[in-house]
Amino acid sequence: MLRVFLSIAMLITVASPVASQDTTRTAAAPDPVARLVARLDLERYKATIKSLTQFGDRRQGTARNLAAVDWIEQQLRSYGCSDVSRLTYEFQPPSSPSPEGRGGQGVRAGGRGGQGVRDTTRAAGGGRYRGIRARTGVNTDSLRQPDAKLRALDAEASAPGQRQEVYCTKIGATHPNEMYIVGGHMDGIGWGEAANDDGSGTALVLELARIFSASDVTTDRSIRFALWNNEETGLNGARAYVEQRQALQGKEDPAGSGKYPEPTWLGMIQHDMMLFDHGMPRADGTLSPEQRPEADVNIEFQSNSKFAEAAQRLAWVFHTANEKYATDYPASVGPHMTNTDSGPFQDLVAAISLRENERGMQIGAGWDPNWHQPTDRYSTYSDKDFRLGLNAAQTTLAALAGLVGAAIR
Ligand SMILES: [Zn+2]
Repeated sequence: MLRVFLSIAMLITVASPVASQDTTRTAAAPDPVARLVARLDLERYKATIKSLTQFGDRRQGTARNLAAVDWIEQQLRSYGCSDVSRLTYEFQPPSSPSPEGRGGQGVRAGGRGGQGVRDTTRAAGGGRYRGIRARTGVNTDSLRQPDAKLRALDAEASAPGQRQEVYCTKIGATHPNEMYIVGGHMDGIGWGEAANDDGSGTALVLELARIFSASDVTTDRSIRFALWNNEETGLNGARAYVEQRQALQGKEDPAGSGKYPEPTWLGMIQHDMMLFDHGMPRADGTLSPEQRPEADVNIEFQSNSKFAEAAQRLAWVFHTANEKYATDYPASVGPHMTNTDSGPFQDLVAAISLRENERGMQIGAGWDPNWHQPTDRYSTYSDKDFRLGLNAAQTTLAALAGLVGAAIR
């Protein structure tokens, strides 16, 4: 009791000079994380999403997809991001009745395909459906796109064959041999513009690549910015990356060069559908036209993965970063990460995803009516929607800046 009293008394005695010193120090050398986060901008984030929509739905295996890959590469080069590279792989669609269905799609309302009895209360990734559910699915009908120009842009069908995806790296100054991987997928589907799925995640990764690549920014550890292709066919781009590069981790090449073409993976952070959190479908299956006031950034890890504990710790680091640095929307942490490019990493390294909603129990229950639909267009979203994506960008930027020891010269 006495000790407590004395401590408080001491605090009171020294409180005012300490406070004024702190203020001075803050003014002289502001928090570098806050300064980096301040380099994110809503209009710039929106403009990057808008630019991606010039390639329509960017469907894998088409000329518009390849043109988008070229454009992304140009952007990364213009930011000064190091070691801009392409990963090349072959994609042959499986000869199943629903070639565009995602592997592990989980339970759907209306369960297409009729493959035996399924538990319709369970959502993909381990969650459980609650409340009202609305229809979901992939639109394959061109005529549901009313805009003739966009319909023509999206018309070329996907062909099997060679695929490419781009990545670049912020090379760490003191630990170039270790890195975090930050990803989003640049391909889309559904006869729209794939503005939210996943122009919103792609633009987030591009914005972070721009900010971390600025000439006055240094980091102790490395960050790789990856724009996956072929997510919509079953995470094939991320799988190809894991297959080709997993064994190269931490190897100096050439020996003695100080160069690490594949730094050791410390974590993988995926961004997939960042904009739309309008709540649960209403009883008639429609959604509120407005972002709900309780909208949040959903940070998920997979509790059944080999790295669940490390992934959960990573998720809470992101949650803390959101608390401190995100300007508008909070974050919540959940254990059901699923159906996105962090999946192929989850048994190899701590992997998390950031999204507008929980993928399984919310998006899977129809909380995003534009998902894989002709309405997934830039013009569908309001600034309140784009701002949710910006808050996810603030969250990841701030968390990463701390994890890699970012500083501004
Ligand atoms: Zn997606």
